[in-house]
Amino acid sequence: LDVSDYLRRHIRTVPDWPAPGVQFRDITPLLQDPKVFRVLIDAFVHRYMDRRPDVVAGLDARGFILGSVVAYELGVGFVPIRKKGKLPFTTVEETYELEYGSATVELHTDAVKPGQRVLLIDDLIATGGTMMAGKKLLEKLGGTVIEGCAIVDLPELGGSERLREGGLEVFTFVH
Ligand code: IMP
Repeated sequence: LDVSDYLRRHIRTVPDWPAPGVQFRDITPLLQDPKVFRVLIDAFVHRYMDRRPDVVAGLDARGFILGSVVAYELGVGFVPIRKKGKLPFTTVEETYELEYGSATVELHTDAVKPGQRVLLIDDLIATGGTMMAGKKLLEKLGGTVIEGCAIVDLPELGGSERLREGGLEVFTFVH
């Protein structure tokens, strides 16, 4: 069984969504199939069990679905990195540029302790802006991001390359 091919076959491409010309890669069919979902989670867990992070940080919103299960299986805690205005306690925040405008993400100030090793997770890397903002937030609290992982990388957008140039190890299953 080739995990990448197996996962790729369960990702749906939706043309012209959310805007004309965009090919949206939709992972919901993969989550919906219990066998595929298990293969995915087991593959993530296998990758990190021998260098277990102290914390898994998930990026809003599909990173929560993946990250919470991976954290549970690794036996470590989960923390959410959320779009601005959703977290109730004191936060650190990071603003980054989008194609049109900007976005701000937040993290609770007690989510990570100085020196903790953090695994950052999302469903997909496009420009890499979201994952880089997550890395910066975790580092503001003194955390070390051991790797940024996702199911899908869109290499033609250069995000994973930019993240690596910015000092983040990146892992994905599907290009
Ligand atoms: P980036 O910040 O440009 O790398 O965009 C990645 C973020 O946008 C992630 O949180 C993804 O969930 C989301 N995203 C962008 N394009 C897609 C897509 O085609 N499918 C699913 N999520 C996407």
